[in-house]
Amino acid sequence: MSGFRVGDSCDTPGCQGSFENERDCSCHIRPPCDGCVEPLLSCSECGRDPNDEATSCA
Ligand SMILES: [Zn+2]
Ligand SMILES: [Zn+2]
Repeated sequence: MSGFRVGDSCDTPGCQGSFENERDCSCHIRPPCDGCVEPLLSCSECGRDPNDEATSCA
């Protein structure tokens, strides 16, 4: 996992957005839900997924 979390500022140069969780929380049904345990992050402005680059590590 990367160090990015929900609410962190986007690291794309010039982007003013912040990362949000694309997954819906269903903790009211079965906590902790996948959305909270393994959030799917994307920038609110540019849509960047900070975890997309995890493959660069050989
Ligand atoms: Zn949840
Ligand atoms: Zn962004």
